[in-house]
Amino acid sequence: MAGAFALGFKQCRKIGGSQIRSLLRAKDVFLFDCDGVLWNGEAAVTGAPKVLRTLLKHGKHVFFVTNNCTKLRENYAKKFSRLGFTGVRPEQIFSSSYCSALYLRDVARVQGQVFVIGGEGVRNELRQAGIPVVGDEDEAPDATIFHCGLASDVRAVLVGHDDKFTFLKLAKASCYLRNPECLFLATDADPWHPLPGERILPGSGCLSAALEVASGRKAMVIGKPSPFMFECISSQFSVDPAQCLMVGDRLETDMLFGSNCGLDTMLTLTGISHMKTAQEYKDCDHPANHSFVPDYVVDTIADFLPAFEED
Ligand SMILES: [Mg+2]
Repeated sequence: MAGAFALGFKQCRKIGGSQIRSLLRAKDVFLFDCDGVLWNGEAAVTGAPKVLRTLLKHGKHVFFVTNNCTKLRENYAKKFSRLGFTGVRPEQIFSSSYCSALYLRDVARVQGQVFVIGGEGVRNELRQAGIPVVGDEDEAPDATIFHCGLASDVRAVLVGHDDKFTFLKLAKASCYLRNPECLFLATDADPWHPLPGERILPGSGCLSAALEVASGRKAMVIGKPSPFMFECISSQFSVDPAQCLMVGDRLETDMLFGSNCGLDTMLTLTGISHMKTAQEYKDCDHPANHSFVPDYVVDTIADFLPAFEED
């Protein structure tokens, strides 16, 4: 009974030694979340740069899937190199801002301007893709929704992380979304991010939630756990989902993303989620929660290294 029930379900199996070795041999493509997996803030996870180097040396394909929308891909590549990860090219990095730009340009083929709640990372990815962004540079500092200008050709509102979020931006976005033809996108729906000293940073999800209430509409999410990021990778590279391993630290985004894309998933315990929570999702009666459960669990991706040393 247990075996039949388990069929097709994620097993949440803590693996080591020879099991990691077999898994690394079986997979050709590795998708890594970044924060909590490769680094925490500005500190690389011990051994992670060597893991990446070794995977590449063994001919594996590596991609990075991040909901962080605050940087251009080129700037991400600089962060990799600053933290000791060598040979990472911008083309391997799929951020929620880059994928939002691809969606607007290639899927929605938006004709008109995009109103952005978000920082320069989002705006610059859109500009690089040739998408016109409504500027707020000429807005008077004391402007209010009663007297501010509204552009007539806004065809999409995109919400991402914005540490200069204001009531006026929320009000303007709500006005644009009165037009049912105007798209409503969110780079990601992350609720918060950990900071040192028990502090947290509210994520894009709380800003899009505010706009969802004000507009009475639901945002389409581009980043994880939506499968669109994987579609972006497969449209540019030839990847077989059966050959991929998704490695992440957050059950509700990374593991769900892997499940949504039909990928095997691995939770690493160097970031947000704990083994106990993964186990609770596994034991939960609600089938929807099973998509948060990883196939495999490791303490850190540095556990990959001995598997290669035996070669
Ligand atoms: Mg993470």
